[in-house]
Amino acid sequence: MNLHEYQAKEFLKAYGVPVPPGIVAATDSEAADAAATLGGSSWVVKAQVHAGGRGRAGGVKLVKSSTAAGEAAGAMLGTRLVTAQTGAQGKEVKRVYIEQACDVAREIYLAAMIDRSLGRVSFLASSEGGENIEETAQANPDNIHKLVVDPNVGLVPTEVQAMAEDLGLSGAPATATAKAIEAVYKAFTESDASLIEINPLAVTDTGEVLALDVKMVIDDNAVFRHPEFEKLWDEAEVSADEIEARRHELNYVHMDGNIGVMVSGAGLALGVLDLLKAKGGDAANFMDVRPVATRDQIAAGIRMLLADTKVKALLVVAMGGGVLRCDTIAEGIAIACKETTRHIPAIVRFAGTAKELGELALQNQAVGVTFAHDLADAAEKAVAAVGGRG
Ligand code: GDP
Ligand code: MN
Repeated sequence: MNLHEYQAKEFLKAYGVPVPPGIVAATDSEAADAAATLGGSSWVVKAQVHAGGRGRAGGVKLVKSSTAAGEAAGAMLGTRLVTAQTGAQGKEVKRVYIEQACDVAREIYLAAMIDRSLGRVSFLASSEGGENIEETAQANPDNIHKLVVDPNVGLVPTEVQAMAEDLGLSGAPATATAKAIEAVYKAFTESDASLIEINPLAVTDTGEVLALDVKMVIDDNAVFRHPEFEKLWDEAEVSADEIEARRHELNYVHMDGNIGVMVSGAGLALGVLDLLKAKGGDAANFMDVRPVATRDQIAAGIRMLLADTKVKALLVVAMGGGVLRCDTIAEGIAIACKETTRHIPAIVRFAGTAKELGELALQNQAVGVTFAHDLADAAEKAVAAVGGRG
């Protein structure tokens, strides 16, 4: 789960990471008021979208009056910001963040992430931070410093201080940067983050250290442990469908085809998507149901597929085994299909535990499904039902 910049800053501030004073705004007049409330003589107006590269794309504007703050916000709000990281469609700007601007003397790059090859939290830092970090990192890889944290030991103060000095800092800015690293580490581990990236961590003309931009990602699978983040799903630029699916513990990703797919297991689901392609069709979605899914969760998933008017046929592939039973899947299908007024072809391929019971359940419930005898047959029947590629 991605947090917005303003959410990440609020979170890190509570851990003692220094950030400029700022206020989030959803309208141009709110933005002008925010600048007036913050005070000072210059502000930065920043588009809140889940993508970097905003500065180069016109999503970060320096303004010198509260009126100009309102105008800059008005120009961004409601538009789709296209940056190097958003893809051609861009991302809709629903909010802007207004911050007091500061005079930046140096821009540092500082990130905490999980080094998956080591299985450890590690910090990356560079004295050449800012908007050109990708280019400078490529041109000068020696200028990227790395600090790997042993979870049994935690951060070692001398190593943290050494990292600050590697960035060419000394005195108060070095101490402040070391403190920021400690604070980021605590925030990272306590929030189950997978990334906290501060770029730039600015050193101001007066030697103050401030996080000017933060990108923060929380591990989706840990969000349930953090009610403070869970409530942010709706703002996380996640589609309404994905939020609905999450509510029923289904993994769902919307796609462009017209065959609504439900499969037990993510690997099998990927195989089914490939097979549909090979047979000349396209899936409308990816949907993986967990082995412990209840019939009500299955029914909720089928309802979602039926509610998508682009879906012209359903394909359910379930491999019973372990705790997963085909008859549970069948009951879920029956519940959703019996209550719907939308009757579209449904192809079902069951295998493994309670296959016969599942098929019997669907027949007894008089739900008109077509059974397939193997995976290839299932894919062919689904593609035939929609008449090939839509
Ligand atoms: P990004 O382009 O999405 O990474 O957005 P950033 O928040 O990093 O903003 C882009 C650039 O704007 C930063 O790299 C800074 O150079 C600059 N910037 C952001 N806030 C301030 C500020 O308060 N003062 C000054 N002088 N520059 C700022
Ligand atoms: Mn940045």
